[in-house]
Amino acid sequence: MNHRISRRGVIGLGVGAAAISAAGRTQMRSDGAGFAVVGLGKLAQGQIIPGFRNCRNARLTALVSGHADKANRIAAEQKLPPGSVYNYDNFDRIASDPRIDVVYIVLPNFMHAEYTVRALKAGKHVLCEKPMASTIADAEAMVAAAKAANRKLMIAYRCHYEPLNLEAMRRVRSGSLGKPRLVITKMVRQSDLSDPSDAWRLDMRESGGGALVDMGIYGINGARYLLNEEPLEVRATARTDRSDPRFKTVEDLVAWEFRFPSGAIAQGSSSFDAADEMAFEVVGQHKRLVADPGCFYSGNHLCLWQGGNRAEIPIHEIDQFAREMDWMANVVRGGAPMVSPGEEGLQDMRLMHAILESVGRGGATIDTNWGYRRAVDPAAAVA
Ligand code: NDP
Repeated sequence: MNHRISRRGVIGLGVGAAAISAAGRTQMRSDGAGFAVVGLGKLAQGQIIPGFRNCRNARLTALVSGHADKANRIAAEQKLPPGSVYNYDNFDRIASDPRIDVVYIVLPNFMHAEYTVRALKAGKHVLCEKPMASTIADAEAMVAAAKAANRKLMIAYRCHYEPLNLEAMRRVRSGSLGKPRLVITKMVRQSDLSDPSDAWRLDMRESGGGALVDMGIYGINGARYLLNEEPLEVRATARTDRSDPRFKTVEDLVAWEFRFPSGAIAQGSSSFDAADEMAFEVVGQHKRLVADPGCFYSGNHLCLWQGGNRAEIPIHEIDQFAREMDWMANVVRGGAPMVSPGEEGLQDMRLMHAILESVGRGGATIDTNWGYRRAVDPAAAVA
């Protein structure tokens, strides 16, 4: 890790004396897992914290933030007891807070590694947002730290637990489309430099790669889980208007093509200057599956096309964040397999790096056949 964040104010008193456990290390309670959410930005406030309402086994027990007023307001709204709010300076005191089993990292990408490693050293399990880090070295350090601490590290790939994506995986696995030939993924949106949530995403050092790592990662991970295999090679190209102030350090439109061992090809694209879209399509020999949109928080649609006939596949919509947090709670309780471990995030980091390497080398073909195999197929593991 090559950064330290600046101090962003001192808040709260950290853990209250009543909560300090002599045991120090996490003891899992029978009533589920307690989560500390780190970084109270758009995703944490918009999806994650409200998502706990729909959880069965995950409970919000602490907040970590650089802004005392915001954190204390949210803690009060969530009826958290005194001593549930930490800041980035006293974060390590979570080690002696038995209410926290899992630390959910919802910070800008460049901060994921530092807080993941600190949480693991504090004896906690970690659920970390995608992309898992801003550099491969950081991602490797996170995987190593989880092993050293003998704690779980899960990457928050919500689509691994989401009914539409699981249904698509199962239909591809069943052979009902015929042999899958082509996967097409389009993960694009507009970005706004004046929005603080986008400003760091448009900074290479803080995001690690702009739209590719923010949006494109859904298509890269998606092609892999849809086909249930790993790409042999990739080539890519980019179109970036460097006079646009948003794209001083990151690429805008990136398009890539992966070749898989089965012969299938996956074409993907990502952009921060295009109409919002998170769609994928699997073209088999006889039928094709179209998910458009396929990866939004809600309102997704899955259709099966054969010739000119289109059949909508009904999907039961869920709170994707609640499902994912419950899964993590079950993993740490020993009741569910780890589906999206750190290694899975690291594979995407390496593939995104290969894409950018190809872009930098004028579209050269980059070997990605380094032997990674997914340990658990979400289609088989997640009901
Ligand atoms: P935001 O910028 O909205 O929030 C990040 C928060 O991190 C800030 O509000 C702030 O919280 C804290 N922070 C601490 N230091 C800094 C710093 N130096 N600069 C900026 N923020 C800082 O980001 P998002 O919530 O949109 O994204 C957070 C993570 O979640 C990213 O990794 C992103 O890729 C991922 N994400 C995943 C999604 C999914 O569907 N799985 C969707 C959206 C995002 P505080 O003031 O409390 O300290």
